[in-house]
Amino acid sequence: MTETIAVEARNAIKAFGQGDVAVRALDDVSVQIRKGEFFTLLGPSGCGKTTLLRLIAGFETPTSGSILLDGKDITSDPPNRRPVNTVFQSYALFPHLTVAQNVSFGLQMQGRPKAEVTATTDRMLALVRLEAMAGRKTSQLSGGQQQRVALARALAPQPKVLLLDEPLSALDLKLRKEMQTELKRLQTETGITFIFVTHDQEEALTMSDRIGVMSAGKILQIGGPRDIYTRPANRFVASFIGETNFLPGTLRDGRVILASGGSIEVAATLRNAGNVTVAVRPEQVRIVPATEPDALPATITDLVYFGTDTHCHMALADGSEVVARLQSSVSGEAGLERGGRVGLRFAPGAAQVLGE
Ligand code: ATP
Repeated sequence: MTETIAVEARNAIKAFGQGDVAVRALDDVSVQIRKGEFFTLLGPSGCGKTTLLRLIAGFETPTSGSILLDGKDITSDPPNRRPVNTVFQSYALFPHLTVAQNVSFGLQMQGRPKAEVTATTDRMLALVRLEAMAGRKTSQLSGGQQQRVALARALAPQPKVLLLDEPLSALDLKLRKEMQTELKRLQTETGITFIFVTHDQEEALTMSDRIGVMSAGKILQIGGPRDIYTRPANRFVASFIGETNFLPGTLRDGRVILASGGSIEVAATLRNAGNVTVAVRPEQVRIVPATEPDALPATITDLVYFGTDTHCHMALADGSEVVARLQSSVSGEAGLERGGRVGLRFAPGAAQVLGE
């Protein structure tokens, strides 16, 4: 199946410094990124996202392990010998050159024929919808327009893989949303493999075919946005992406006996594993009358109105807190008040037993 894999990191370790000040920016990372996919590396600041991108670009070499492109080991190839390009957060445009000159720069450096340079530049400017700006200096453009120039310039030499290091973080929220759609369109139209770095979970969920969630130099989980959100592998992933209720309990015969009383049915394939933590998303928690049989008893501690929905905070018998998200349009909060005693149910299949 190697023909469908564009980029692979095999047991990549990257250490900076030595002795007491040594940092393992990447701690045995293995990942296979498929041809033509939009793959996102997601994680908090300092988890090693940029370091992994720099190993793929060739700006750094791994302390051990290897990087493969189309099945070929490129670990010691210099950046200019790799069919890979990078778009940085800072854009790194040439301010004294025009938009068209910025886009054609890489092609000219490669010594491509003049007619080809002109044709490709025109095509790239059309792709990012900047034909009308071709003759302007990049210093005369808005942030969003500069970002488009940076993208066109990186795509012009037709790299096999485009690396994007937080390319939208300098833009304001509205423009960032527009550029998210734009980036996804560019990736679909060009069919180029995109490896995108962000610490923004919403950005990762909305744009990616697959996401690799990173923490402390490791990739903790790889999967599609839905997999990652509905089936987080561990507590870090569950809390980094979206909001989650964590409930302690004991796993026995396909049910988790909760510390707060009551029990939840979980995937039958799970074996008895003693003490576990169950994760349930707030939108999967249902509030029912306290009198309903088998419902988990709870007391409302707070109701917070958010416009589209209301968050209902509740305390369980063991003191643990559960939050339910109630949609305003179905007036789910009608009749609820602080101090009220209610029952809780979880949507079928919503409870996820977490590994460590
Ligand atoms: P951010 O989102 O803040 O850019 P990141 O997830 O991209 O973070 P990296 O930039 O890859 O993280 O850094 C991972 C770790 O390696 C951090 O602890 C960082 O301080 C360290 N590090 C990165 N580059 C170097 C370097 N050249 N020398 C020493 N330490 C480094």
